[in-house]
Amino acid sequence: MPSTVVILGTGGTIAGTATNPSDNVGYTAAQRGVADLVAAVPALQGQALETEQVAQLDSKDMDHATWQRLAQRAAHHLARPEVCGVVVTHGTDTMEETAWFLQRVLGPDKPLVLTGAMRPATALQTDGPQNILDAITVAREPAACGVVVVFAGQVHAAQDVRKLHTYRLDAFGSGDAGPIARVEEGRLRRHRTWPVGSGLGLARIAFEPASWPRVEVVTSHAGASGRLVDALVADGVDGLVVAATGNGSLHQALELALRRAATAGIPVMRCTRCASGALIGAFDAAMPAAASLSPWAARVELMLSLLAGG
Ligand code: ASP
Repeated sequence: MPSTVVILGTGGTIAGTATNPSDNVGYTAAQRGVADLVAAVPALQGQALETEQVAQLDSKDMDHATWQRLAQRAAHHLARPEVCGVVVTHGTDTMEETAWFLQRVLGPDKPLVLTGAMRPATALQTDGPQNILDAITVAREPAACGVVVVFAGQVHAAQDVRKLHTYRLDAFGSGDAGPIARVEEGRLRRHRTWPVGSGLGLARIAFEPASWPRVEVVTSHAGASGRLVDALVADGVDGLVVAATGNGSLHQALELALRRAATAGIPVMRCTRCASGALIGAFDAAMPAAASLSPWAARVELMLSLLAGG
């Protein structure tokens, strides 16, 4: 039975420090190493754990080169027979994007669990240690698979998870789908089956970091115009995701510009700016709908599709 869990550190608030312990917002992210974060959880002592620092950044600054390295290191460890699962400590700001990226590239059979914290490691009541403990519980779960986010006692699938709150400790949700499970005192209470999905493969991102296609997100809103889209096309953008209003509707001025872009050969993907729900109904081929993906997950989707030449 594989029993080792590898914890890959990338930074974030979970590794952040503040000078004043009662300050939950005025801190610097990505200050403590992942080995220190694990050592701060007494319940983990004696467990078969390994740590590796893959990056040390505030996830608002996440970049494609770090994604590439993280996917490679996660794939390396997941392929080891003695490893039952991998945990990634990550900032909360872009955790859902990284989760979807890793799911679409790796689609692992073993659990690949992202976690983080809303409060820095120095806070009076920091949430990081419990989240790490819960994430490792999920990484050891034999029935678990794929990329999930474990946060505030909930297990969210990569395809559903979104950061919903700026400050609360339970900042993540899964919308209509709801969490896959809850972690309670080291045990999993499952609500639904684990979503399975195969990955596109590391080969799709095996290139120099500079080769990532440039995909930008534009938003439809009151008073929108097509000028931003026209400027992006003139600037050589490779693809566009439009965060549409409601069930995929677009301001007519923006829509005209997006159709010009599509006609010029720029792929355009449509999704909703609503926090929950999927696009329902048929949408024309010039601007296909990204079902229930968030604009940022749709951006990952379009980038990976462009990398495949599609
Ligand atoms: N800005 C931080 C980050 O994403 C926020 C956090 O981790 O909660 O790294």
